[in-house]
Amino acid sequence: MLEAEMSNPTYPRHRTRRGVLTGSAAALGVAALPAWTLPRSHGGLEVLALLDAAGPFPWKSAAAFPDATTDDWARAKRLDPAAFGPDDGWNLVFRCFAVRRPGGRVTLVDTGVGPEGSPASSWAPVPGRLPDALSEVGIAVSDVERVVLTHLHEDHYGWAVLPDGTPMFPDARYVVQHAEVASLDAGSSSISYVVDPLRRAGQLHEVQGRVRVPAAGGSLTLLPTPGHTVGHQSVLVEGGRRRILITGDVLVHAVQLAAPEVSYALEADPATARRSRLALLELARERRALLATAHLNHPFIEPR
Ligand SMILES: [Zn+2]
Repeated sequence: MLEAEMSNPTYPRHRTRRGVLTGSAAALGVAALPAWTLPRSHGGLEVLALLDAAGPFPWKSAAAFPDATTDDWARAKRLDPAAFGPDDGWNLVFRCFAVRRPGGRVTLVDTGVGPEGSPASSWAPVPGRLPDALSEVGIAVSDVERVVLTHLHEDHYGWAVLPDGTPMFPDARYVVQHAEVASLDAGSSSISYVVDPLRRAGQLHEVQGRVRVPAAGGSLTLLPTPGHTVGHQSVLVEGGRRRILITGDVLVHAVQLAAPEVSYALEADPATARRSRLALLELARERRALLATAHLNHPFIEPR
């Protein structure tokens, strides 16, 4: 557990800093940096954590995780102290990941809360800054060949399209589980804001189940992890210095890492979500993969 790395969390929203995640990273005392790079081994894949937004969630912690015990909260606080705001507040970040292969082409996993006017902007703490975060690490929108959406919640598809319906990444195939799209209500903002525009542009690519995507230097494997939503998926990245498991919202708070059986109040199917969480953590331990999380205050974290 890289607890020391999370001991001095800050939210430098306009600062660019890239780091190397090694054993000595703990000494840096840095946490929610806008961009945090896990560098590739020679010729392999590079995984970059990109901060879109940070701030308090509208729900109090106890309301969001009603099953958590005092002991669960104490362990969670040791894992992610920055998540604990005053008056039982929950401070979280909204993070995306870029997987860059040799030559510079990129798979982006999730797209944050989006700009002013996106569906999430009615409740997100601040508008997103993903375009700045991408340019700070030298990624142009045209470099993105694939966008994997772990699920179709507002804080994960925010920059997939612009508010006028134009896909943000003109050359990308947007990959989502068919079960996720099929589960949406016809009148939902997920359909009108992101699914319909991507479909009209011919850029929506629905997949079913586990899918391995070979890439020069390694591979990405899409893993169905249902429960948070019906068609939620996570992404295993192989071919870098360490295997990386991009969790999506299988766990949204350190309390679900400290106590994986603890449900989040907004999970579509808590029992299924719990099974997915336990299975994903087991996979991460087996494969010695680092977890890459969307909402914890440190982007990369050892499974427990
Ligand atoms: Zn989320």
